[in-house]
This record gives sequence, C-alpha cells and structure tokens, in this order.
Amino acid sequence: MELKLAQTESYKALLKANSDWATKRMQEEPEFFNKLAAGQSPEILWIGCADSRVPANEVTGTRAGEVFVHRNIANVIVHSDMNMLSVLDYAVNALKVKHVIVAGHYGCGGVTAALSKKQFGLIDNWLRHIKDVYRMHSHELDAIADHTEKVNRLVELNVEEQVYNLCRTTVVQNAWKERTDLEVHGWVIDLKTGLVKDLNVSHRDAHSLGYVYELNEE
Ligand SMILES: [Zn+2]
Repeated sequence: MELKLAQTESYKALLKANSDWATKRMQEEPEFFNKLAAGQSPEILWIGCADSRVPANEVTGTRAGEVFVHRNIANVIVHSDMNMLSVLDYAVNALKVKHVIVAGHYGCGGVTAALSKKQFGLIDNWLRHIKDVYRMHSHELDAIADHTEKVNRLVELNVEEQVYNLCRTTVVQNAWKERTDLEVHGWVIDLKTGLVKDLNVSHRDAHSLGYVYELNEE
C-alpha cells in the first residue's frame, strides 16, 4: 500500500530552500562541502534555549562547522542530564572547544512559565530547576513590581546559575586541571534588537566556585 503524505507548502519550501542554499554555497566556495565532510573543529559550544528565535549560527554570524550546539527549554544545565553531559564531554574533551556559552534570551517562555503557578504538564518537572533559581534570588526578584522586568531579571539570573552549574560539572573541572584555554560565559539575547548582552560571568578556573565545588585535590 502506498502511503501518501500531505506535503504542505511550508514543508516543501524547506527542501527547496535547502537545495538553493547548497547550490549557492557551492558557487561561492566550491570546496566548502568537501571541507565540512572531512570533519569539524569548532571552537565554541553553545548551550541555548530551544526557542525558534535564537538560532546559534544566525545570532553569532557563524557558519556550518563553527559552533557545536546543544539546546533545551530555557537553557538549563542539570548535572544528571546525560544528553547535556554527553554533548559537553565530547565538545570539551574530543573537540577541545575553547569557549562554552550559555545563551538565554529575554521574554523566554520557559522562564515565564516557571514564574507562574499554572501547571503546564510534564514540562513542570523541567521548569522546577528555574523555580529553584527563583528561590535562590527571591529577595531581589520579589522587589521587582513590573512582571516583564521580573521575567527578564530571572532570565539573567537563570543564565548566571546555569554557568555555575556548568563550571561545577566534572567535565569542566577536569578540563581546567589540564588546560588554561577553556572559558565558560553567560549571555542573554535581546529579541527586540538581536543584540547579545554579555553578563560578564565568565570563568576560566575553579577558584571562584566556592570551596565544596572545587574538585582539584589529588
Ligand atoms: Zn526560551
């Protein structure tokens, strides 16, 4: 029996755009795909929100092969998340990336949902991690009256806490014992301007993480 799928215009448009892109890239740089097929050596690992408005390459003006990417709802770093840990381990230890960027964005739907008392289903278990960030900073956040401002401040604090979580992983701690060229950064993207705000919470060693999180004793 032949299965006939309804191919919508938007679906067909994707394949057409792909073909146009590949043709254009070939014309501009005939060796481009040969180089891509030969391997990757990106210097950046991007851990961002799954939101469709914050694509890593487009935001940073980079091309295929330049950024290793992991995305989830509200760019959360959970130290028992095997998916994130596998991406991080491969990026840090095999690809030897030099920068890991946690990238949040203002108006994040995940962060907004975490601030409410509504149940959204399965995702509530994931958003719990952001509620924990709220609890840690409730004194500051409770003092903000404007809801949008409150969401956006929580977006920033969430990125800061996820940067800490990333630095506390054994992957990053062990890399720092051996290398001095690995930096972790926290960014927030402003959807209204497209511009990135560097939160200046970068780390390049374990010393600033607090005694119990430093794993550098022999
Ligand atoms: Zn988001």
